Amino acid sequence: MNLDQDIIMKSQENQKKYKFMNAALKEAKKAALKDEVPVGAVVVYKDEIIARAHNLRESKQIIHGHAEFLAMMKAAKKIGSWRLEDCEIYVTMEPCPMCAGAMIQSRVKKVYYGVKDYKAGVAESVCQLFDLPFNHKVETEGLILHEESEKLIKTFFKRLRNK
Ligand SMILES: [Zn+2]
Repeated sequence: MNLDQDIIMKSQENQKKYKFMNAALKEAKKAALKDEVPVGAVVVYKDEIIARAHNLRESKQIIHGHAEFLAMMKAAKKIGSWRLEDCEIYVTMEPCPMCAGAMIQSRVKKVYYGVKDYKAGVAESVCQLFDLPFNHKVETEGLILHEESEKLIKTFFKRLRNK
């Protein structure tokens, strides 16, 4: 492959990442409208979004109400299997241990995330859970459109404080 082809391929790949992360950001905005911490996620299978979800922990009062967890549940239902082997997840914030555990358990191929979560993120912040020698290795890539994601979170908490 020559250099030009390499650059074209990389830019196509980036466009794909931005497209899917933008879809996840759209979900995050829905969460904000419901006074939920604005986190959104989509599950991508064969380059198509098969599930979308946003954080619903407060409105539903469910422990696993995080965006990526709910999106994984929807994806499993759609595929008809708990194995999400060929699926990629785009989530606007670094996953917590619960969601990361579910990703390992369901054998997700790769997770792309936006902003880091210094308090609960386990891809790189609190620990590097995905690097531990589990039976399945989930690939990770962070900081995709993280400024947008961070802005949503900051605005949300600012509004909360001013209430
Ligand atoms: Zn989580």
